[in-house]
Amino acid sequence: MLQCTAVGAVPCPDGSVGHPSCELEEEHDGEHAECCWVNNYLDNALWFRWEGESGRFVTLPWCDAMRGDDDACTLFADHPGAHVWQFSDPTLDAIRADLLNRYPDLTGTRSHETD
Ligand SMILES: [Zn+2]
Ligand SMILES: [Zn+2]
Repeated sequence: MLQCTAVGAVPCPDGSVGHPSCELEEEHDGEHAECCWVNNYLDNALWFRWEGESGRFVTLPWCDAMRGDDDACTLFADHPGAHVWQFSDPTLDAIRADLLNRYPDLTGTRSHETD
């Protein structure tokens, strides 16, 4: 399964245009979503949710799903689609493949040998 590749265009107060990219699983129901800011004090996050040309900021609690003891889902509670470890980001996959093609010595593993 892959991550949604939707990208929005949001006019900012300074006249620039922001481009949120969706973090949910592809073909999810409802609005797209990008995490904008993590509030560690209140243990929640500010998300930008959008559909078409309209969007809104909303504060949401975290999804409470865990994989193992220390791998939490980084999406919001009751998000549509799968948890983050159940799909991959095609953009990051393409970047990794390109880097490995250009730098074949980079295998992602590190030697733990000592001198
Ligand atoms: Zn989306
Ligand atoms: Zn989740």
